[in-house]
This record gives sequence, structure tokens and C-alpha cells, in this order.
Amino acid sequence: MRSRWSDSEAREAVAQWGGIAGEAVALRVYTSRLIGSEPDLVLHGGGNTSAKDFVTTLLGERVEALFVKGSGSSLDRVEPRDLPAVDLAHLRRLRGLAALSDEEMVNELRTHLFDASAPNPSVEALLHAFLPHRFVDHSHADAVLALTNQPDGEARIRDALGDRVTVLPYIMPGFPLAKAVAEAYEKHPGVVGIVLAKHGLFSFGDSARESYERHIELVDACERAIASGAVRAAAGVYRSPAAPAVLAARAAPILRGLLAEKTSDEDRPFRRFVCDWRADEETLAFSNAAGAAALARTGPLTPDHVIRTKALPLFVDVPAWESDEALAKQLAESVASYRREYDAYFEENIRAKGISKRKLDSSPRVVLLPGAGAFCFGRSFRDAAIAGDITSHTLRTKRLVAAIGTYEPLPPSDLFDMEYWSLEQAKLGKAKPLALEATIVLVTGGAGAIGAGVAEVCAEAGAQVVVADKDGERATRLATALEKRFGAGAALGIEMDVADEGSVRAGFDAACTRYGGVDVVVPNAGVALVRPVSELSAADARRVADVNYLGVLLTIREAARIFRLQGTGGDIVVNASKNVFAPGKDFGAYSASKAAAHQIGKVAAIELAPLGIRVNLVNADAVFGEGEIRSGLWDEIGPERARSRGLAIDALPDFYRERNLLRARVTARHVGEAVLFFATRRTPTTGATLPVDGGVVEAFPR
Ligand SMILES: [Zn+2]
Repeated sequence: MRSRWSDSEAREAVAQWGGIAGEAVALRVYTSRLIGSEPDLVLHGGGNTSAKDFVTTLLGERVEALFVKGSGSSLDRVEPRDLPAVDLAHLRRLRGLAALSDEEMVNELRTHLFDASAPNPSVEALLHAFLPHRFVDHSHADAVLALTNQPDGEARIRDALGDRVTVLPYIMPGFPLAKAVAEAYEKHPGVVGIVLAKHGLFSFGDSARESYERHIELVDACERAIASGAVRAAAGVYRSPAAPAVLAARAAPILRGLLAEKTSDEDRPFRRFVCDWRADEETLAFSNAAGAAALARTGPLTPDHVIRTKALPLFVDVPAWESDEALAKQLAESVASYRREYDAYFEENIRAKGISKRKLDSSPRVVLLPGAGAFCFGRSFRDAAIAGDITSHTLRTKRLVAAIGTYEPLPPSDLFDMEYWSLEQAKLGKAKPLALEATIVLVTGGAGAIGAGVAEVCAEAGAQVVVADKDGERATRLATALEKRFGAGAALGIEMDVADEGSVRAGFDAACTRYGGVDVVVPNAGVALVRPVSELSAADARRVADVNYLGVLLTIREAARIFRLQGTGGDIVVNASKNVFAPGKDFGAYSASKAAAHQIGKVAAIELAPLGIRVNLVNADAVFGEGEIRSGLWDEIGPERARSRGLAIDALPDFYRERNLLRARVTARHVGEAVLFFATRRTPTTGATLPVDGGVVEAFPR
């Protein structure tokens, strides 16, 4: 590992933030970002940094303050406001106390902030305060953990770092650790860093650069010690029956269904997870190696990871890839046994510690399947991806350790303390879940005007959206735009031709490998044709029926296949048409195919109800595209419709508005809201048609 310090970037940081926050904090922000941008040092909110400087109060007094990373921010993106300032003299006096509970500690930190609206200072703030150095850096570096997480960890650190550091045995973060670190430093005042066994590394210095570069040097020395001792890890021995993606597309929906937890709400009977599937070279090499199970089933690199990955992953030695039935049965047994073991771990620990705690869910967050890699789960794609990143680093580091020695994690008792520590759980946040939390929505014709409106409304409601469109490039563009607005992983664009069985299946498989499955499917792709019945060729009629009718049928069929694998119900909302009840002249092929789609939706509602699957229909009238995304359908047929009504093309929207009772303009977002109504299951409804047309009497459902 090399220092990424750059004098010019440092100057820019001072120019950008020095004026508001002072030079020390500006440079602290800069080097914190350098640490945060190195995934081998910290991942997603891990690690913390601090600077000691002065603040000037309203009375003009200069008071010494600790600027320490706040809880909930990530080092790679910190801003000065993410480093709340706390009264340093007060924090130092706290060291004299014999004990300080977590609640008292949080209260002291909170009540001694200089800005009442600042975030909570890090749970390791006192540790930063008790060290005398102006700058302190803390990471959970893979290389440091690879050495400390071994039976002879301390000796290995000595060999690698000599007397530049002192090593402390594992102590749970909080007041006692802060005191122990300060005492360790005072006993060895020559050291430039302190290694906390099975937790991470602290370095310190008089300048931001010195503390940061010491950190990098120490980690680099650990990396070199590992490289010199490592023998080549054994290559994978598992003989996989198919490509990882093929296996993952089968396993992911089964796993996702098994992990979903039963609720007491009849309309929303499951609380689901989203899956981030990982099959990079390292992950596959680990999962496929001989003896992988034993090494996988060991605790995390650092206890900070427990709230993201649980203490242990679920590892299935020999997955029953021969059939979906066998695989489903085996995974069900494996998940059940994982949950029993988790419950036993919980019971054992509360009994041994004589405490009472509310048990968290017993579901694994990481499932390793030889042949397919790692399936990482979270309540959102973001959480799943955090578990995924941690898993990638964990597996790589455990393999490295296996090559140079023996991996030794913390005992379950310590991991339990961390998992159930209120201050750790607080990091997960308690925001009210969005209406479509952990819900995966697939929209066909997703890049068209209506599809885009549906995708947007669902993404706003917290769903992961698969934008499936015959035009794969347009689908990807829309997905990218949605990710920009709603965060990485919010959407996936795929090419799908609904009239082609293989393409539809591949599209659903893509949803499974990206998010773990699908919960809401919106068959929306459609084509239009303006031609009187007397002039319709068989080829034209077939082309329209292939998309509008067969496409809906195939989409429903594939949705049902995935819903069945998941076993957690599902929703299908068919975008039919106002024409189903109120056909118009010259629109025969279109109206007939839409009527067929409408009918197939109702039959599906009857057939799929026993599986908890609801099928509903939306009949929209004349939706025009907005802004960037115009309706492809209307671009195609608009001019002809206008001609047949003797209107100018620009006059069409007003024409349609005038013919409905509410004189309403119907937008793509309105169709999206109708989908959202069904997808959020406000009413126990299936087989129903909801008109979204401003009120057209002849199109009233009957
Ligand atoms: Zn830490």
C-alpha cells in the first residue's frame, strides 16, 4: 500500500474547507477521504479519524476541541460537518472516572458538542480524546487483521512492525478500551501506532499527513510480511455443473424466499431481503476450494462487520444442483438449521451473561454455495452490497491467512456483545421503511413513456427496478438515470423481447442474479397499429398479438415461475388499455390483442391466487410522454390517430382530455401510481381492472 498524499490536493482541501473549518480540519477531511477510498483499509462507515484544534465561541473564547468522525458517515465522503467538535478538556476529565456506561458516554458526548445539530460523535471518540496526538487515524485494515486473527497474532505483528507499535488484546469498544489504549500509549510513548488484536489499527501524529502516512506505512509492512510468508493457495477443486450465473439464477430466488420472514399482516405476509450476488474470482476460488466450509464458518475479520453479515455465513457443502426441487429442499433445511443455531447462540449468550435482549432476526446475511459464489442479503440493495463488499474482503483475507497460518476469530461471546451493542445497532438507523422496501419490480417496455413513469414511481417508493425493454440501450440509459436519482443499485436496464420465450426467461434470470428475484411484475410492453380489419394482414395481426398478447402471457408465466421458487407470493399488474372495454375503429389488431391480454390476466388471477399471487389490470387512456421520454407508441400512432380524427398532432392531448369526465390529462406517472396502489396491497384485490382515464363512460369496467 502506498501513500496517496498529494501536496496540490492538500492545498485544494485547505482552500475549499480551511475558511470555514480551519486548516487542521480541512487536512483532516482530506486524509480521511484518502483512508476511506482504500477498501483494504475500511469499508462502508468503518474506521474513524480525528483532529484536535480550537473553536471560538460566541463570547470570543478559544476552546480546545476534538473534531472526530460522526456516526453514520463514511470516511470516503466526509465533509467538515461530519466531524463534530466536542469539548476536549471535558472529555479528558472523564478519563478519571472508574466506569462510564454506554448511555452515559453517549450523553457526555452529545451534551458537550459545540453545535447542537451535529451528528453523534463516533463510539470511539473517547479513545481519540485520551491520546495526546493532534491527529489520530483508525482503520480495520485487512492486512493487520490477517496477522492479528491468528493464534500467534501478537508475535506476527511484532515480526512485521517491530517496536513501532504496541499490541493490545481484544477489548470491546467503549470507555474501557479508550482507557486501555491511553495507558498502553503512555507505557510505550515511542510508538507511532497501536494494534488492537482482531479489531484494527490506530496511528497518530502531529500533522494530518504524518498520522496518515504512518498508517499507510504500517499497513504496507503488514502486507509485505503476508506476501513473503504466503504460499500459493490451493486452486478450486469443486467441479461445477454449470456457469456460476446459471446456478445463481436458480439458487437466488429460492434463497431469497427462504430468508423472507413471515409477518402477521395478511396483505403483506413477508418481510423480504434484496440479494447482491458475488462471483468474482476470489469469491469463487474460496467457495470452490477444498476445506472451504470450515474456514468460511469462522467469525468475521473485525467485530464491526457483525451487524452487516452476522457472525457466520451459511455454507452449503455440496449444493443439490441436480434439480430445482432437490435444491429447494436442501436450502430450506440448511436455512432452518442455520436459524436454529443462531437461536441457540442467542440463548446461550443471554443466559451466560445474565441479560435480557430482544432477539434480532435469525436469517443469514451471507450464503456461500460452491459453484455459484456468495449471496449477500440486506433490507435494501445498498445494505446487501455492503454485506457483499465485506464478504469479498473477508474471504480474500481468510484465504491469505490460511496460506500463512491459522485463522482464529473472536469467540462468539465477544461477537454477541458487538452484535447486540445498542451503539452498533444504532448505526443501522431506524428510518421508517419505504412502501416498496426490499421489493423488486420488473417492468416490460420499461424504457417507453408509460414504463418509465411506472419505474420512476416504484423507485421513489424504495423498490429495486428492472427496466426491461426491447431497446436495451434505452433501458440502460433510463436505469442509469434512476440510479443517479435513487442511488447505486436502484435500477437495472436489460434488453428483453417479450415475444421471445428465451429472451423473457433470460430477463427474469437477470433480475434474479442482480437482486435475488422479483416481486412485482408489470407487463407493459405494447405495440400499436392503425388499420381497418378489412385491410389487416395475417403478419400484421400476428406481430401485434405477439407483443401485446403473447408477450403478456410469457411475462406472466415467467413471473409465476420465479414467484413459485420464492414462495412469497407476488404481484402482477398488467397494463391493458381503455380499448378493452371501449374499442375504436381502425384499431382492431391492437384492441383484440389487449383484450386477450386482459383476459389472460384475469385467468392468471384465478390460477395463481392459491400461491398468494395477485393479478390486477390497469386500463389507461392515451398517455403522452413527458420531457425526455416520449411515448414510443404515440410517436408511432399519434399522427395517424390525429389524421383519422381530423386533428393536428399537437391537438391530440387536448382532444383526449376533452373526452373524459374529469377533463384530466392522463400521465405515465398516473399509471405508475395505479401500479403502486396494487403493489403496496392496500386492499385484498385480485382480478380487478382500474381505469386510469379521467372517467370514460363507455370504458367503465363491467
Ligand atoms: Zn474500529
